[in-house]
Amino acid sequence: MAKRTPEQKAARKIHAAINRDKIREYANRYYAENKENIREKERAKQSDELRERRQLYHQANREERNRKSREWKVNNAGSVRDYARRQREANPDLFKERSNKWQRDNAEYVKEQRRLAKLDPEKIARDRERRKRWWAKNRERILEKTREQRKLRRSIYVARTRNKRAAARGADGEVTYEQIMALWELQNGLCVFFASCGNLLEKKKNGYHVDHIEPICPQDPNRPIGGNRIENIQLLCGSCNIRKSNKDPYGFAQANGLLFCDITNVAPKRSQLHRR
Ligand SMILES: [Zn+2]
Repeated sequence: MAKRTPEQKAARKIHAAINRDKIREYANRYYAENKENIREKERAKQSDELRERRQLYHQANREERNRKSREWKVNNAGSVRDYARRQREANPDLFKERSNKWQRDNAEYVKEQRRLAKLDPEKIARDRERRKRWWAKNRERILEKTREQRKLRRSIYVARTRNKRAAARGADGEVTYEQIMALWELQNGLCVFFASCGNLLEKKKNGYHVDHIEPICPQDPNRPIGGNRIENIQLLCGSCNIRKSNKDPYGFAQANGLLFCDITNVAPKRSQLHRR
């Protein structure tokens, strides 16, 4: 091939600069497609002698190379840290596994370090600061969670107590907190006798009463006992529940303007009502 003139060289340089991305893409594609061939050629080129020479050089300059590498790392601590973080984020499982393995393999060392850390006042102070920062950041979230858990525990406890009380009075069945909350939704958070009392129910202690429609301790001793089942439950405001007490549910509803028909004809027989 004829030698290129300086003008040709300059033109090629400009061309390369303009089409840099295209050229790089082509080269990458070519390499990907011919990877095995290229490697094979490279390996053939590296004669044994050359390889040996390289190894010798490598060994002879190990100290120097390591020193340089350390120096570079110190000078570029920021990017080293960033790179490590990116790697960890990209392969969390791998790093966790590796860390666990290392800790297992060095159990004694880890134990000793932990013991020393407990005595190190600087670390203690650092940890305290970190915990403080964490708490300041997560305070509301944790408190909210605790409140919710406490509320749920209390509700479950209340439901259990209610079931026990009903059982002691001879009513069978059980009502869960979830069923009561579903009923709450059905009633839109209103007392069943809202039309007469105008009371909203509240999700707090005594904010609503769980009423057995057919009382479990009926006024009339000849009446069958109401079951402790969700079908026999309604949510009332405190005042309505106290007024209703153990009265006939139909009579009470009528007295509060809820049933306008003559219930003696349409109501199912009491005996049918309780044999579900
Ligand atoms: Zn009410």
